[in-house]
Amino acid sequence: MNITSAPSDLQPFLLNDVKCAPLGLLVLQPTTFCNIDCSYCYLSHRSENRRMNASTVRAIARFVRGIRISEERLSVVWHAGEPMTAPVAFYEDAFQELQSGAAPIQFRHHFQTNGILINDDWCALFKKWSVQIGVSIDGPKEVHDAHRVDRSKRGTYDRVMRGIAKLRQHEIPFTVIGVLTEDALRSPDDTWRFFESLGATQVAFNVEEVEGINHLSSLSISEAAGSFRAFLQRLATLRQANPGIRVREFDGMRGHLMAPHGNGVMRADNMPGAIINIDFAGNVTTFSPELLGTEHGRYGTFEWGNVHNDDWPAIVSNAGFKLAYADILAGIQRCGDSCAYFSVCGGGNPSNKLAELGTFAGTETQYCRLHIQAFADIVMEDLEKELGIGQGGHVGGPNRK
Ligand code: SF4
Repeated sequence: MNITSAPSDLQPFLLNDVKCAPLGLLVLQPTTFCNIDCSYCYLSHRSENRRMNASTVRAIARFVRGIRISEERLSVVWHAGEPMTAPVAFYEDAFQELQSGAAPIQFRHHFQTNGILINDDWCALFKKWSVQIGVSIDGPKEVHDAHRVDRSKRGTYDRVMRGIAKLRQHEIPFTVIGVLTEDALRSPDDTWRFFESLGATQVAFNVEEVEGINHLSSLSISEAAGSFRAFLQRLATLRQANPGIRVREFDGMRGHLMAPHGNGVMRADNMPGAIINIDFAGNVTTFSPELLGTEHGRYGTFEWGNVHNDDWPAIVSNAGFKLAYADILAGIQRCGDSCAYFSVCGGGNPSNKLAELGTFAGTETQYCRLHIQAFADIVMEDLEKELGIGQGGHVGGPNRK
């Protein structure tokens, strides 16, 4: 999931015989359109400009009002296409509508943006509503511009950096997400120094994924796994010199590895209701946000209802939802039976399994080898060194289930 926020309370409850988690993250797609054209993008409709309207925002407020929420404030991520291609006025109205229409629920708004359109007007909105900003930037100019390009194939680095400068000028805190591609792996020192210098409150790393319409990752080649681990090892060493910078993957994994035995990870993206995703037209799905707008031979679309007509109990009664969920549960079960990393993973991201394996019921993917297993091994090595035990090694010794 290419976003920085995740629910914390996942304690399940039964609804129509389905074990649901309280809603902790609402992902809203205000528009299908993106103003750039990254080479690894998984969104099939990013050239079309279909926008969410006011009646759909009202229906979303009604829809969430009846749902059990995990925290006092519900996090809303405006995401995918580029949320800032909808105007500032849309968000002024939408934020007001959600606040009044879904009362007493309180909202915490987040934007995951490519940063290009950030200007003084946007900064005023961010400050007024305390919007949390995540900017997507992949590293130094040559690394970023290799993949994050506009429709004329021009790199977008300079424009993103202008947006970041605007945030800094207005003293608006922001996080960053970098997608690690083969280009980034060649220069870990430059990559780390770049992220270190940005002034972000957190750095997160995603790996280039086989996802949606992106059928091939530059990390798919067999040599990439070794380079990836060497890259992470170097990054971990460099980070030790500046531990004040929060790095989502290292810090999150350290928390998982140090959790008391038996407290395995529960994943928001494979539990019904923990994350609810709603597209511009009000179509609803749950699990991975990347499922919105995709289709599959076995499952059809993942639109299991619409906020204009359905409530959450209707979504979990939908036959398509039940079929997908049965397969997701089978995949989690198989992961638990076979994978030494299960306790720090929780059984994987359904949309990655579907994109790479063609089914939710599978287990290991390239994504989990890189984004879960490699990070777990590197962090485990560091922990063992700190504690003066072992040789530095694999989580994959004892199964910590
Ligand atoms: S690391 Fe991969 S194989 Fe292991 S539990 Fe996670 S998704 Fe399953």
